[in-house]
Amino acid sequence: MPDGQAPTSIPVPRHLHSVRYEIRGPLAARALEMERQGAEVIKLNIGNPAAFGFRTPESMRLAIAEHLGEAEGYVHQKGILPAREAVVAETQSRGVRGVTVDDVVLGNGVSELILMCLEALLEPGDEVLVPSPDYPLWTAAVALTGARAVHYPCRSANGFCPDPQELERLITPRTKALVLINPNNPTGAVYPAAIVEALVRLVETRGLVLFSDEIYDRILYDCAQHTSVAALCHDTLCATFGGLSKVYRACGYRVGWVSFSGRKSHAKEYLQAVDLLASLRLCSNVPGQWAVQTALRGHQTIYDLTAPTGRLGRQRAAALEGIARSKYLDVVAPTGAIYGFVRANRELLPGFDDETFAMALLEEQKVLVVPGSGFNVDYKDHFRITLLPDEGTMREVFTRIEALLDTWSTA
Ligand code: PLP
Repeated sequence: MPDGQAPTSIPVPRHLHSVRYEIRGPLAARALEMERQGAEVIKLNIGNPAAFGFRTPESMRLAIAEHLGEAEGYVHQKGILPAREAVVAETQSRGVRGVTVDDVVLGNGVSELILMCLEALLEPGDEVLVPSPDYPLWTAAVALTGARAVHYPCRSANGFCPDPQELERLITPRTKALVLINPNNPTGAVYPAAIVEALVRLVETRGLVLFSDEIYDRILYDCAQHTSVAALCHDTLCATFGGLSKVYRACGYRVGWVSFSGRKSHAKEYLQAVDLLASLRLCSNVPGQWAVQTALRGHQTIYDLTAPTGRLGRQRAAALEGIARSKYLDVVAPTGAIYGFVRANRELLPGFDDETFAMALLEEQKVLVVPGSGFNVDYKDHFRITLLPDEGTMREVFTRIEALLDTWSTA
């Protein structure tokens, strides 16, 4: 350091000021510190099935092992052909027309593709309609471009589904795109076909790009039916995101894909920009790409897990039982994905604050949840759990939550 100059800290650039990701935020850091000091923390903050003993199907592991020798070099920026062909075949089987291997891009998880697809579209001042609550990467990715996430409420009274009329009122001349997360993280809502159809009509008439995050598309309970937008959307560009992390329990392989459908003829420059961004990072993790064709064909083992007698089905039931037994909690039962967005009753718990609660639950009961406000909502009485721990642990979680809330209650 030159003489006489005071040390200065490195400032965080302005476009990062509003970016948050509470799932791995200060509470998660505190949990790690507690673990290092010997505490056993039940961590319900991250949707990482492997951490709870869920295994990736063996056929996928074998496919990677078989092709490791071919996975040493860079590949095409959009991904290896067999993987893209498998995504095209899967898209066709859902009734989507006109998707070719050129319209599919593989990424290091859906996360990387979300960042790329928004960066290729947005300018400072643009607006994107993002659900509230949302998976917070979407809001963060919009903010990173200098554009603005305009949150459309998905209210619990409406099963956490969007209201197309209310959403339409938020469209301005600056609105470029609509983000759907269906099945939803954090609420577990699976949108009825009529709502999806109304939203597709809306984006088509208003000329918005449709980003549909369908990473949980096969994680469904109680006979819920998932409606994929791509088969319905013809008059505007539709980008559908899927991946290996959740349905195939392979978060660590870092494999996701986006397939572009609908009105591609009007989006040539945008698609070239996505291709450019894909080229800049050369290609995504190659060994993982070799698992895609094996994953997408044949028996889908996720359905064994989500059945009422399957592991996820039973754990979800244990969580719902714990909430039903609680004096303080309620939830809109999730019909998809791997989370519950739980509400605390403020009449019985005056002054309940999601962040204070999550901190106390961690410090006093060694359970880590994510406060609802980490999902871009303007209320403070929710928190998110994952449905991943085994039934015994799930019961223990609700015993501990109840013990804490008993000390908070005025009743
Ligand atoms: N989209 C949603 C809704 C998610 O919940 C997640 C991860 O939790 C992702 C995208 C990112 O997944 P990945 O990058 O592992 O594919």
